[in-house]
Amino acid sequence: MPNHITVAIDGYSGVGKSSTAKAVARELGYTYVDSGAMYRAVTLHFLRNDVELTDAAAVDQALADVQIGFQPHPEGAGYETLLNGENVEQEIRSMRVSNHVSPVSALPVVREKMVALQRQLGAGRRVVMDGRDIGTRVFPRAELKVFMTADPAVRARRRQAELREKGQTVAVSDIERNLLQRDELDTSRGESPLAKASDAVTLDTTHLSFEAQVQQVVDWARAIIHSSNEQLPDGSNH
Ligand code: C5P
Repeated sequence: MPNHITVAIDGYSGVGKSSTAKAVARELGYTYVDSGAMYRAVTLHFLRNDVELTDAAAVDQALADVQIGFQPHPEGAGYETLLNGENVEQEIRSMRVSNHVSPVSALPVVREKMVALQRQLGAGRRVVMDGRDIGTRVFPRAELKVFMTADPAVRARRRQAELREKGQTVAVSDIERNLLQRDELDTSRGESPLAKASDAVTLDTTHLSFEAQVQQVVDWARAIIHSSNEQLPDGSNH
């Protein structure tokens, strides 16, 4: 039995965390968990039910009604997000949700529920999870923490191409504005702000191809798995 690790990938919006994390998980044979999808699903539920974020009772009630799940993608590429059993994978990627998700995810009650679910999903290690506070809050003892950055203009162009592939046409300037607004809200909130963990390695992808960034994370992960196997001659988990 090889030793298994937890891989935490955090960073700015639109930096390629999800696609990188998904590909790394595939290479390592690990499970991929998209924590942003959970905050997006909660946001969609709040939007559909006109929940006023300043109304604590309404927020509590709406949150109690939210059940988030994942089901394997029919084409085998990762997972699709379920909100109360409904497949909302497409809808949670819309600009409407992107424009509302940061204030929703700044609410401590929302974070508390999502963090508990994320810890449950990652309890057995062998997981690659991406988000904003995975290395700082959700799994502060993760063996590998990666903090991803990239030039905002590059991020916006990449995100535009991704949305285009999904049939959504959005101006690059609108995307860049949204990414920067989310970065600002995510880094300045009181509860678990987006921050690089002191023991995280930085991965700047501005000039890296997708394949190169995936390879870099896989190499880091394998080096840690390999060295912990050497420390534990019986190969047992620590
Ligand atoms: O990763 P993604 O861009 O889909 O995340 C959407 C939003 O969810 C982020 O802008 C952030 O506000 C919130 N989020 C968070 N903590 C996480 C993951 C996402 O606050 N771990």
